[in-house]
Amino acid sequence: MNSDMDICKPLDLQKDGQNMMNSENIEKVRCLIIGSGPAGYTAAIYASRANLRPVLYTGLETGGQLTTTTDVDNYPGYPEGVTGPQMMEDFKKQAERFGADIRFGIATSVDFSGKIHKVTFDDMKIIEADAVIIATGATAKYLGLESETRYAGMGVSACATCDGFFYRGKDVAVVGGGDTAAEEAIYLSGLCRKVYLIVRRHELRASKVMQDKVFKSGNIEILWEHQAINLFGENGVEGATLVKKKGTADEETVTIKIDGFFLAIGHTPNSVVFKQYLETDQVGYIKTIPGTSKTNVEGVFAAGDVQDPNYRQAVTAAGSGCMAAIDAEHYLSELK
Ligand code: FAD
Ligand code: NAP
Repeated sequence: MNSDMDICKPLDLQKDGQNMMNSENIEKVRCLIIGSGPAGYTAAIYASRANLRPVLYTGLETGGQLTTTTDVDNYPGYPEGVTGPQMMEDFKKQAERFGADIRFGIATSVDFSGKIHKVTFDDMKIIEADAVIIATGATAKYLGLESETRYAGMGVSACATCDGFFYRGKDVAVVGGGDTAAEEAIYLSGLCRKVYLIVRRHELRASKVMQDKVFKSGNIEILWEHQAINLFGENGVEGATLVKKKGTADEETVTIKIDGFFLAIGHTPNSVVFKQYLETDQVGYIKTIPGTSKTNVEGVFAAGDVQDPNYRQAVTAAGSGCMAAIDAEHYLSELK
């Protein structure tokens, strides 16, 4: 008898414990926001003020891409400029002021098959939401050089529109051969003394019209069939080591003196986790109905860089975060 009880008790406790864990691990919310960049926090500000009691999960990079940069000079409202981390702290505080529930966690899987949208965080916690706003951003691709990491924010950038201003009158290099690289090189050519465009092949991938602009520019020098292998400098980037015609009999190593090194080899939208349910373009940007934040799944909205192959700026991300919150509010009011 005793021994039966001994066996039963722990088993029951275990079962009860498990049930408790399961119910604790499922939570129902009206509006879930995934991502804590300008788009996510702006959506949280608008959704809180609309009384949607949003829950926002920050992801691994709390504050988003801008926390990896120093000065932000082009965001309206900061006449003296602001550091990226400070700006995102300000966004967060503003969202919290209106009651947004901000939590750390990474969306690891989703189920958008029903009317209630289920998102699992950290493979543990399930949030069931009537409306979901995806604001997971995009990640710039880097070459993977150790020196790129060493000089992050000290001469290495993945955004000419954001950081080009700091290199006025200086010499810089742009890596890439696509439209972004062409666009960044043209933009920088208006600010900098000289722009090297480092292209790994013997031709550009960029559209004809962009190529023409590059060729016509007086201060862009294209380094065909070059690949960057290292950056050097005392307190920031002072130059780059390149290999020309790598792997051929004519291979040679060259160095260039530069103050800024801009990557323009593409971005990866952080949309993989949603791909089973949401339509994306070839690169992975979530498709939205033009002029709205609506995706192909009712009640699921996308804002910011994850749905924006073109602009990818803090102000445009924030603007689309606002749109997503308003779209979610309309959707929820019709659900009632
Ligand atoms: P992001 O800022 O990328 O934020 C994405 C958020 O989603 C992050 O919080 C991340 O943790 C979260 N996330 C991702 N995956 C998951 C997941 N699975 N689960 C949960 N959360 C997830 N723009 C300007 O206008 N001015 C500038 O000066 C400027 N400087 C820049 C400098 C650098 C170095 C870089 C890289 C970009 C810069 N930009 C600048 C561009 C700007 O940062 C982006 O356009 C903007 O941050 C996009 O905002 P977002 O909210 O869409 O996404
Ligand atoms: P992309 O078209 O994919 O081009 C990426 C470029 O980077 C390619 O030239 C590629 O070289 C190069 N590259 C990739 N990995 C590299 C590496 N490890 N080392 C060196 N070079 C590397 O990306 P994108 O330029 O960002 O453009 C993305 C999309 O947005 C495109 O559809 C583009 O047309 C569009 N876009 C349009 C405009 C515009 O119309 N104004 C502006 C910007 C972007 P290879 O060519 O050798 O592969």
